[in-house]
Amino acid sequence: MLNETAYALGANRSCIRDLFEYGCERAKLLGRENVFDYSLGNPSIPSPPQVTQAIRDVLNDTDPLLLHGYTSAVGDYETRKAISDDLNRRYGVSTRPEEFFLGCGAAPELTAVMKALAVEGGELLTVAPYFPEYKPFAENAGLVFRVVPPDVPSFQVDLGRLEAMLTPHTQVVLINTPNNPSGVVYTRETLMALGDLLTRKSREFGHPIYLLSDEPYRELSYGVEVPFVPSIYRDTILCYSYSKSLSLPGERIGYVYVPQAAADSQRLYAAVAGAARAMGHVCAPSLWQKVIARCAHVRPDLESCDRNRRALYEGLTAMGYEMAKPDGAFYLFIKAPGGDAKAFSEKAKKKDLLLVPGDGFGCPGYFRICYCVSYDMIQRSLPRFRELIGEYQP
Ligand code: PLP
Repeated sequence: MLNETAYALGANRSCIRDLFEYGCERAKLLGRENVFDYSLGNPSIPSPPQVTQAIRDVLNDTDPLLLHGYTSAVGDYETRKAISDDLNRRYGVSTRPEEFFLGCGAAPELTAVMKALAVEGGELLTVAPYFPEYKPFAENAGLVFRVVPPDVPSFQVDLGRLEAMLTPHTQVVLINTPNNPSGVVYTRETLMALGDLLTRKSREFGHPIYLLSDEPYRELSYGVEVPFVPSIYRDTILCYSYSKSLSLPGERIGYVYVPQAAADSQRLYAAVAGAARAMGHVCAPSLWQKVIARCAHVRPDLESCDRNRRALYEGLTAMGYEMAKPDGAFYLFIKAPGGDAKAFSEKAKKKDLLLVPGDGFGCPGYFRICYCVSYDMIQRSLPRFRELIGEYQP
């Protein structure tokens, strides 16, 4: 006997992984330069030089036993202090090291928070388009997973529909800004209106509705403000990751921030630590904690990402593709010509253009491009995008 839910998750690859594997096979046949793979969100800019230097310094300066030993389950104090100081400087807030829990990236952190909150029959609401892993995370935590339909074409939050879906069972609303897959950054107005709505509904239901803000792309924005959500809504829990901001997805390091001002914050923080413990969390990788202690203030160099973004946005828009303005992350979410994104993606595949249909993000009719690829690949792929849309134009 085995757990069939776990089996199904493990046996069925995601559509993104399928496309990526397909791309690898095609690359073996045709050569890497003849496959235009826009499927996977692996950062294409190297970690900033300060990170490489910090690794060297940490290796040189730290007692090896300490370096590789277990740390406190919540993480080294120095690292939490460096993160807290950096946020305080940037946003004019007054976070404290005690409010941070160091984790192994956004994915396990989100799961721990969901598990910490879940009560029998509790609901999690997220907003389409959304990161597909949210569903297994929430369901594994024991939460009922519900999706607020997308606010097309801006991909902000449709507050009317969200309000209609809030029930006394809603424990948490999960947002992701800058957003994967839309590339949209929620504006301060959107977040303030969302905060007002959740404050009103929390009062009405007689219990807090937490806002879980998933922010692995916080540092990836192009000339727009990415507001600090806990300053806007009191009962916010923030999950952060260095996977994208410092190009460290394979290293597994990030944090959960539980503001002391949030409802029941002390018990909530303990529940996050307890939920992580139950999932086998021991501590975040020690070496990386020590690197982050030295690099909490380091930001990525976005020049090449921005160049890619502009080349694709301008190039594709000029051809007639329609999309929301991609102000953050490294994704474009584009209306599929013909309306059927799966069919469009299949057509694109025949031209060795690998584009992810939006169905898995809760948003059929759109497809996602991940532009953390080489500029050269983008330039060479543009004629294929032109040919493709040409097939739908009279
Ligand atoms: N949340 C979103 C929106 C993501 O896009 C990703 C990864 O692509 C994650 C969470 C998981 O990130 P991490 O590598 O920090 O676990």
